[in-house]
Amino acid sequence: MEKLVSLCKRRGFVFQSSEIYGGLGSVWDYGPLGVELKRNVKDRWWRDMVTTRVDIEGLDAGILMHPDVWVASGHVEGFTDPLIECKNCHRRFRADFVEGDQCPSCGVKGEFTTPRMFNLMFKTFMGPVEDEAAQVYLRPETAQGIYVNFLNVLNSSRQKIPFGIAQIGKAFRNEITPGNFIFRTREFEQMEMQYFVKPGTDQEWFDYWRNERLEWVRSLGIRAEKLRLEQHTREELAHYAYDAYDIQYEFAFGWQEFEGIHNRTDYDLAAHQKRSGKKLEYFDQASNERYTPYIIETSGGVDRLMLVLLADAYREEEVEGETRVLLALQPQLAPVKAAIFPLVKKDGMPEVARKIHDDLRQRFHTFYDESGSIGRRYRRQDEAATPFCITIDGQTLEDDTVTVRDRDTLKQDRVATGKLGEYLADRLGG
Ligand code: ATP
Repeated sequence: MEKLVSLCKRRGFVFQSSEIYGGLGSVWDYGPLGVELKRNVKDRWWRDMVTTRVDIEGLDAGILMHPDVWVASGHVEGFTDPLIECKNCHRRFRADFVEGDQCPSCGVKGEFTTPRMFNLMFKTFMGPVEDEAAQVYLRPETAQGIYVNFLNVLNSSRQKIPFGIAQIGKAFRNEITPGNFIFRTREFEQMEMQYFVKPGTDQEWFDYWRNERLEWVRSLGIRAEKLRLEQHTREELAHYAYDAYDIQYEFAFGWQEFEGIHNRTDYDLAAHQKRSGKKLEYFDQASNERYTPYIIETSGGVDRLMLVLLADAYREEEVEGETRVLLALQPQLAPVKAAIFPLVKKDGMPEVARKIHDDLRQRFHTFYDESGSIGRRYRRQDEAATPFCITIDGQTLEDDTVTVRDRDTLKQDRVATGKLGEYLADRLGG
């Protein structure tokens, strides 16, 4: 993990928030490469969950919502974690994360306070008066924005059940023990989809979405043996869930969830119906029935998935007696698709290379580099996950061809300059 964190900083994937002020606990900023990877991950999700699906609509709801939303959803009452404090070193922990009575920080035994339930929602104020009436929350999940817009989306899109609403957006949780880099942070992004179904068909759709999501995660190139599905036990189930599975990845710090699939029954719509006094029902014209739909939810964290992808892609290899560090990200997800190098900074090579770079840049995210030895330039791109390195050499000046080096196999192809766009499109899958 330390090696990954340092690579992420060195190459511009992830920086600590407000670093020049000593950092802000558990908030991270995405640098030039990180932001590209994040966009690629979100674009892929959106493509597969919204664009290509006639049964799912997109939504972008506000982060701030009416405070009653969080009363109805159960978050004001129940979105809590048990907090304990070590009386010796005054460090605080989530009681369910600590085994036994020994402090993980100072090692002293039996000095924990009794657990106190701590609400994880961030509070702020709307308007100039900072009193209780003006108190609002930063949303701890994107899902509620979908539930309260159920009728708006249904009526405007004229979807019929079963159908889904998908959203990507920021969520905030005042976690007691954030950590493990971008795994658990206080500000993060979620990709959530709520699928509305007829009661009685929920088990079928739950099974469908569990398989669909696992397949999707696999399609990102994550090693199969590092992935598993885990069903929640009765004790682990959240207050809204009837059944739940986690998709887990085997990190260096153990198997951990990065996406959940939940059967939320009619819990959410019924709760909002009750609190708002507005009917949130569906009229099924075919069967002439009126009912409150059941919801199957798929809820994943963008940042956590990025950690999965980065951890899974991190490799150290011996090449000609030297250690090569590379991020073997799927080429479609890689931030930069191709790096363009003149072999040497003379003989007109930089000019040709720049021209190739400028042309390719219109279609692909590319990077131009002429500094340092060619070996060093390759190594920098291996760490940046760049799948292809294009080198302009002496032969280019004679026959207008270049070498294209493959990040994973290290094989080099000789490609005509005019065909580079086609070649990259082909290797990147269109
Ligand atoms: P945990 O048990 O780890 O606290 P959770 O079960 O509360 O997580 P959900 O409420 O199901 O998580 O959230 C759905 C997804 O949102 C998670 O699978 C995860 O990817 C992401 N997520 C939740 N909390 C955080 C966080 N603090 N930092 C980053 N991602 C998070």
